[in-house]
Amino acid sequence: MLKFSGKSVYKGIAMGKVVVLKKNDSPVVRGRITDADVEMERVNTALEQAKEQLGKLYDKAVKEVGEENAAIFEVHQMLLEDEDYLESIENTIRTEMVNAEFAVATAGDNFAEIFAGMEDEYMQARAADIKDISNRLVNNLCGNEEIDFGSIEPSVIVADDLTPSETVQMDKEKILAFVTVHGSTNSHTAILARTMNIPALIGVSLDLETIHNGTVAVVDGFEEEVIFDPTEEVSVEVNARIEEEKEKLRLLQNMKGQETVTKGGRKINLYANIGSVSDVGYVLENDAGGIGLFRSEFLYLGRDDFPTEEEQFQAYKQVLQTMAEKKVIIRTLDIGADKQADYFNLGKEDNPALGYRAIRICLKQHDIFKTQLRALLRASVYGNLAIMYPMITSVKEVEQIYEIVKEVEQELKDKEIPYTMPEQGIMIETPAAAMISDDLAQIVDFFSIGTNDLTQYTLAIDRQNAKLDDFYNPHHKAILRMIQMVTENAHKYGKWAGICGELGADLDLTEEFVRMGLDELSVSPSMVLKVRKRIRELD
Ligand code: PEP
Ligand code: MG
Repeated sequence: MLKFSGKSVYKGIAMGKVVVLKKNDSPVVRGRITDADVEMERVNTALEQAKEQLGKLYDKAVKEVGEENAAIFEVHQMLLEDEDYLESIENTIRTEMVNAEFAVATAGDNFAEIFAGMEDEYMQARAADIKDISNRLVNNLCGNEEIDFGSIEPSVIVADDLTPSETVQMDKEKILAFVTVHGSTNSHTAILARTMNIPALIGVSLDLETIHNGTVAVVDGFEEEVIFDPTEEVSVEVNARIEEEKEKLRLLQNMKGQETVTKGGRKINLYANIGSVSDVGYVLENDAGGIGLFRSEFLYLGRDDFPTEEEQFQAYKQVLQTMAEKKVIIRTLDIGADKQADYFNLGKEDNPALGYRAIRICLKQHDIFKTQLRALLRASVYGNLAIMYPMITSVKEVEQIYEIVKEVEQELKDKEIPYTMPEQGIMIETPAAAMISDDLAQIVDFFSIGTNDLTQYTLAIDRQNAKLDDFYNPHHKAILRMIQMVTENAHKYGKWAGICGELGADLDLTEEFVRMGLDELSVSPSMVLKVRKRIRELD
């Protein structure tokens, strides 16, 4: 039996077999070889493996998202047979006598650059595909394994770190818990674990080489520890605790169908946060009154190209229809910082959290923004939609947004495409927005306070940096005063204010939030019933 401690992201307990997700993020190094034939054989084996992997991915995607969307994996299979690409790899190996990994990575970079420089938009988009297949080949050459979610039983995923794009691609039904060596409690991967009700421990000092697939592990989010190979006695005890937790959750079920109202009669809109269309199931299961934050950027992650207007329209429409007439607040693209997609070509920045991200991208690259706005306005016909803009710092930005929205409306009118104009609100997640919330309240329909970023920017603490987790204090007086001020400013102009950051689910602050006059709290689906219970206990 081996025990390790870490930081808990979601308080739950699970036990199951381990699947170790090994990745090699270190850059490919150039190495000299003596036998080119041996190296070519390695390339051929990696190619065969890649074709098999892509075949499986295609079959899975056809079932889940239809033939049209699955076609990308066929394109990848075709690229793997491209003669120029394969010749380039072989030439580099034979003429420079270098290792296969280096030759593949070089061919990938060169071809991606050629595609990116082409006139045709379709060909330009293939640059990301070439990079993707080259990465796949390099991973196969290095022996890095991909998890085949189709064939595993529900498991405990152990990894060095997980990016949001990796997490969204996982089959959630197959994950019992996450354990990672790195990561911060405020990262989006941590937020996803909370959405899914999955116990997760991060910052666990493990040597992945010593942990083997199939080993049984207990992930205990309450005690903040993971136990590998538990003894019979521990397993029995853990099983009893798992049952106890299930019972507690069962008892919470009587909160379903109840109003979210204090004993004194103050009603709070209690909504849930989601990252993907499939999360709507968790919202309904936990009886949230609506969706207070749909992080739409997750639609853009884990893929090779921008989602089309039609794809987005279908996703938004499905969420709106499923939620019937309940409020659905969709936040426009908040890409950047830890949420990266290669095809955006954002480039490396020294301070990505302070960089080219979210609304800044939308205000510079109107085509990306307009595609999303068109999809949103069209979908608005199907339910009770509100749009929310992230990372606002000034009145001018909101005015620029409204100009673009007007253009989109005109385009839809010209083409006689039906749409309705949703409410438009902003996130208050920068100190600048909080300080000028009196001005902003006059031009928007609502405020939703993003305490995750508001804490990061107010306390000058990178929320991704695990070393700073102990300094990241959303209870800081500066944050609480800003929340109070923002709420008062919203009310002064007849607008509502809510919290959609993780702090909204902090049961120690629920009473204070109610006292401050907040109108809405939007929390992880797994927290909805707990917050409702707390509110109903208040005088
Ligand atoms: C926030 O910053 O509080 C927020 C809700 O947005 P995100 O966590 O996606 O940055
Ligand atoms: Mg934010």
